[in-house]
Amino acid sequence: MEGGSDSSIQVLRESTADKENVSFEPPAKKFKVTEVHSDCKHKLEDRLSGILCCAVCLDLPKTCYQCTNGHLMCAGCFNHLLADARIKDETATCPNCRCEINRCVCIRNLAVEKAVSELPSDCAFCNSKLPRYQLEYHQKELCQERPCSCRYSRIGCHWEGPYHEVAEHESNCAHPKKSGEEIMSALEAIDAQRQEEHKLYSDIFSLLSFEKITFNDLQLKPFRTDDFITRLYYETTRFTAFNQQWVIRAKINSDHKNPTHTINRSLSYQLVAKTKLTAPMVMHFLALSGPFGGIKMKSKVYNFEFTEEASETEYLDLPIDSAECNKLLASKTINFRLVMFQVTK
Ligand SMILES: [Zn+2]
Ligand SMILES: [Zn+2]
Ligand SMILES: [Zn+2]
Ligand SMILES: [Zn+2]
Repeated sequence: MEGGSDSSIQVLRESTADKENVSFEPPAKKFKVTEVHSDCKHKLEDRLSGILCCAVCLDLPKTCYQCTNGHLMCAGCFNHLLADARIKDETATCPNCRCEINRCVCIRNLAVEKAVSELPSDCAFCNSKLPRYQLEYHQKELCQERPCSCRYSRIGCHWEGPYHEVAEHESNCAHPKKSGEEIMSALEAIDAQRQEEHKLYSDIFSLLSFEKITFNDLQLKPFRTDDFITRLYYETTRFTAFNQQWVIRAKINSDHKNPTHTINRSLSYQLVAKTKLTAPMVMHFLALSGPFGGIKMKSKVYNFEFTEEASETEYLDLPIDSAECNKLLASKTINFRLVMFQVTK
């Protein structure tokens, strides 16, 4: 061991011999040499992975952002940090150097993204090594071990297995030889699912034929309750629809006490009538991403009968997944569109 580190010092002295300051180097130089020496045991790609990884999750970023000091964050963690800060009503900071991060000062780092795409990674199914940029296509189209299901799954075959076994299974699969009677239940299950989707869209289309339709592009602003334990919620400014004043209130993870303690985020909202109703109003309403929202939102129509006593709906799920929810919370402004349909009897 002793001899090993001595020889490294010598290597350094030889290689930098023409630099005059070498004899005045403090012992710290010795440390640097041994560090480089042990680093060589690791492959270049491993060393690069350590340098190019996200400062938060340590994964290699596909889309990479950097703070003003150059610390790297993957898009998912960047959104999460911004969303977290918004929930806590704080300024988002870089986890490395604590400088402020936001959508204006943080820029993409294409060099890192491209370098990462060249680094090798393992196929999740066959364990072969290939550059990251080829991985997705390989796992979807080329890998012999990728999981597949039988082409007769629509008529009830539950077989699943690697791609290279599909042909053999399908040639022996019993399902195509089954009678119409035997495959009916599988077809009915498919029909039921399709009908449900179809019902949603035909409901929306019939709502579009109503006489009284309105939509508003709204923006949610953060507020805190003045309870003993304050809670963060969001509210839009008042807007007018059908000669009434309304607001939307929204909560993050209404089923969870402290939304910063969970990775899974959800938003729920309620529609509130702010002016006194003279007669009951039956409303159908639907939240959409809208022209300024830019997030993926599913369609879900809710309905409620507003009366003098019942001026607000309960909290209803905004149909977005957790990643989209983080994106929404991390964006500069939380925008969405609310379409309202009034049912007149
Ligand atoms: Zn990350
Ligand atoms: Zn930083
Ligand atoms: Zn593979
Ligand atoms: Zn089969």
